[in-house]
Amino acid sequence: MTEAVLDLDAVTKRYPGAEGPVPVLSGVSLRVEAGETLALTGESGSGKSTLLHLAGGLDTADGGTVRLMGQDLAGLSDAARARLRGRHAGLVFQQFNLVPSLDVSANVALQARLSGRHDPALDVRLIGRLGLAGLERRFPEQLSGGQQQRVAIARALAARPDVILADEPTGNLDEATGDAVLDLLLELAAETGAALLMVTHSTRLAARLGRQLRLSRGRLDTDLPA
Ligand code: ADP
Ligand code: MG
Repeated sequence: MTEAVLDLDAVTKRYPGAEGPVPVLSGVSLRVEAGETLALTGESGSGKSTLLHLAGGLDTADGGTVRLMGQDLAGLSDAARARLRGRHAGLVFQQFNLVPSLDVSANVALQARLSGRHDPALDVRLIGRLGLAGLERRFPEQLSGGQQQRVAIARALAARPDVILADEPTGNLDEATGDAVLDLLLELAAETGAALLMVTHSTRLAARLGRQLRLSRGRLDTDLPA
């Protein structure tokens, strides 16, 4: 059996609420193999972002196990978890998390530099393909929301991750640009061998990925007809 890039087993997560803990994930299991592409849908508040945060080790599960590249995230120190994430996961979250004091080039290179895999030629290609050429010296605050989103995508891909965790990466883009960015994400993921776990509201976009998952009442329905 090949080793999964990401393996969630019976994962549970609760958040504190006014009347006690509120369950968000109630036993979620998911195996993502190398190079697979998966779409994650579900109503607002169903726990999609929570699942991605747990998968990337940005938060910890209450129960069950989360393994990234075979390593149980619960057994790692914060520093070791951050290192593992930097080396293997590319994150595209809704807040973008661009560094305000760094220009576009430096933001794109950041994660790749930190994980010792900086490839300037790949950066240039990603910047070009994502329609950011000419904006290299701009700072995040000088970019539109859609441009910032594309910088975040370039940064995630530049580090050649084993898995890309993307939370509505086309959410701020108009339909045509969103389609083009998904084309590119799928193409570049295939080229670099990265798996893709992508949250989307769009069943149309979800249908273009290899597997469709839906979160509902804390559980995952897998392999729905698209
Ligand atoms: P989705 O991404 O599917 O919209 P989320 O994972 O963001 O859902 O949130 C799932 C549920 O957990 C929501 O009810 C949300 O209000 C709650 N939640 C998310 N993060 C926190 C937090 N840090 N503290 C308390 N409740 C949270
Ligand atoms: Mg969300």
